[in-house]
Amino acid sequence: MSHPVVELRGVAKTYGEVAALAEAELVVERGEMLAIVGPSGSGKSTMLNIMGTLSRPTAGTVRVDGYDVDELSDRELSALRAGHIGFVFQSFHLAPGVPALDSVADGLLYSGRPRGERRRLADAALRRVGLGHRLYNEPHQLSGGEKQRVAIARAVVGDPPLLLADEPTGALDSRSGATVMELLHGLHQAGTTVVVITHDHDIASSLPREVRIKDGRIEHDTRAEAAV
Ligand code: ADP
Ligand code: MG
Repeated sequence: MSHPVVELRGVAKTYGEVAALAEAELVVERGEMLAIVGPSGSGKSTMLNIMGTLSRPTAGTVRVDGYDVDELSDRELSALRAGHIGFVFQSFHLAPGVPALDSVADGLLYSGRPRGERRRLADAALRRVGLGHRLYNEPHQLSGGEKQRVAIARAVVGDPPLLLADEPTGALDSRSGATVMELLHGLHQAGTTVVVITHDHDIASSLPREVRIKDGRIEHDTRAEAAV
């Protein structure tokens, strides 16, 4: 039986007085690629972190691959994340002083694979993002665009069905940003479900589905006519 990759039903998140997210209804089917777009502070990261089980909602139901997140222990959630979800963040989240190959291989730490295999898969993932010549470079030796490509390789080295990217081009010049978006499109074409947060309307409107959020509420959820 095939479940939606992510299902949010009546999801809310409040921080004290602040309603970061309210009454969110969202179903993401396997193989989709969508943008979550909205102004700063509108609740995009809150929604992505809930979809990625990094944060639990205040109300409502979250299902990832059919699992009700509320019924899982923290340990089971970690296992679900490790096996199902890759994350990419605006600020790369690469540890200083760690060569690219090791950063990417660390994406498989909880996979149970032996070290040699982790490094072999990391090598292949870095080649796929065009960084075969940067395997041993540390973050300070890489451009912003290269750092984000390392982060993408780390996110997908375990071949997760779902990739969540929070403003992946937000810290990049437009050319590096375009390269990152091409990589995300390539992953989508290869079958990965991809969710991209952006406040760039050009990027958002170039994706097959656009979810617009404002003041913690989903305002529009539209699919492009020609989307496959
Ligand atoms: P976006 O990603 O669209 O910029 P966020 O989801 O980060 O928006 O934030 C939505 C709202 O929730 C904002 O008002 C923000 O200040 C608030 N918020 C987000 N995270 C926290 C937190 N950990 N503690 C308190 N308030 C938060
Ligand atoms: Mg954000």
